Amino acid sequence: MFGSRLKLSLLIFLSVFSILGAQSKCSYCSKPITGTYLTSDGKAYHEDCYRDHIQPRCDYCKKPIDGPYNLLDGKKYHSSCYRDHILAKCDICDTPIEGIYVTDFWNNSFHKYHTEDLHECFTCGRLICQNLTFGGYILEDGRNLCGICNETAVTDDFLLEASLTYVTRLLNYNGIYGIPKDIPVTLVDANTLKRLAHSQSDAMHGFTDQNIQTLSGKVISKKSHIYILSHLPLLMFRAVLAHELLHVYLFESNLDLKPDMREGFCNLGSEMVYLNDNSEYARFRLTNMKASKDPDYGIGYQKMSKLLEKWGWTYLLGTLDKFQ
Ligand SMILES: [Zn+2]
Ligand SMILES: [Zn+2]
Ligand SMILES: [Zn+2]
Ligand SMILES: [Zn+2]
Ligand SMILES: [Zn+2]
Repeated sequence: MFGSRLKLSLLIFLSVFSILGAQSKCSYCSKPITGTYLTSDGKAYHEDCYRDHIQPRCDYCKKPIDGPYNLLDGKKYHSSCYRDHILAKCDICDTPIEGIYVTDFWNNSFHKYHTEDLHECFTCGRLICQNLTFGGYILEDGRNLCGICNETAVTDDFLLEASLTYVTRLLNYNGIYGIPKDIPVTLVDANTLKRLAHSQSDAMHGFTDQNIQTLSGKVISKKSHIYILSHLPLLMFRAVLAHELLHVYLFESNLDLKPDMREGFCNLGSEMVYLNDNSEYARFRLTNMKASKDPDYGIGYQKMSKLLEKWGWTYLLGTLDKFQ
């Protein structure tokens, strides 16, 4: 999620010549010139007239400018003043940035080449380094996690109960009931998740294993087990939990939707969690979902989100069987 921009200033060369020449008039004081004079823009000046009244001054240090200078928004600067005080500094390496630079979702601006040698955090998209993210970690399954996201990373069952309560309340508030209370939730690494879900997708953050027991063709029990990727920041963890709980809802309601409608619907749970949170991180995750080209998690979700906006929860829930 980067945008490139070009920041350019004009480098102007001053034409000042010192010539011993024929008599002429000073363009500043209109008096005759004898001996050394200076020209600038084709006009001749006494040396003193030039220095005191015509010579450009740096808009930063206010001192006269002799050589080439930089012009930006009508203001003139010594090249060194421009470089050291006017140009924005790279948020990653603290040196001035000119030319093509990159701005990320978080309004960090930096040299484009940093995107080639730094890892991107798998949840927030920031480039992992001391200045932007207070460092970061490479997890055993190869995921890159930044220091900011790590602060709320869910790594054990500690926050599980509270998250289940929080998400269930949010779902209930929107009229979604009928999800059993005792569903086990297990944290797993990326490789285990892929194996359980028989998927190769790196976009997977959770999986719900569903089990039906029948006796003589009659359903006697339904069981769900939710698996969620470990080390997700708490908010994303809750969003994934909401997604998986909606899978349980569909399962319990005997609704077997087409894949894009199913994942799209379950992503409405994630959307619900993010919309209920006023952080930049929530906006980042939502922006990502809205921009995703994945046929199920992206396009499917965008379709469902429009339907929800149009119909509201009650009508949408009552219409889900149309998408089987
Ligand atoms: Zn003069
Ligand atoms: Zn200056
Ligand atoms: Zn830099
Ligand atoms: Zn991060
Ligand atoms: Zn899903």
